[in-house]
Amino acid sequence: MTVTKRSAMYETKAWGVEAQPDFINMCVEIDTQLTPLQLLEALQAIEQQTGRQKSYKWGPRKIDLDILFYGGLVIDEERLKIPHPYAHLRRFVLEPLAEIAPEFVHPTLGNTILWLLNRL
Ligand code: ADP
Ligand code: MG
Repeated sequence: MTVTKRSAMYETKAWGVEAQPDFINMCVEIDTQLTPLQLLEALQAIEQQTGRQKSYKWGPRKIDLDILFYGGLVIDEERLKIPHPYAHLRRFVLEPLAEIAPEFVHPTLGNTILWLLNRL
């Protein structure tokens, strides 16, 4: 995969479980020939190589690589949900995302990233 755009890094308060250190969030846009499932497996391999330890849900982790969108594709499987089901609810996602893709239209909601961010 080739990184074609990258946002700044944002230091944000933890979401979900708040009694833990701040997180650093960033969004990237990539070009890839991988299918969505192959991409998920590639990202999980990177997480493993980076030494990600099992933690509790939404707890601290060294790295977490999530697929937010895959073009306009919609997938709803246990292993892979695209668009990411929480993307439109999380400032720490929408803020960096709006930097690199403000006019991208959310495939199921039909709103732009900038609109979703401003609505929060
Ligand atoms: P989270 O990202 O929710 O904090 P994990 O990184 O541990 O938690 O992911 C849990 C599972 O979520 C993964 O095993 C993966 O199969 C699944 N998953 C579903 N949709 C996605 C997605 N869009 N991006 C990444 N993982 C996903
Ligand atoms: Mg994840």
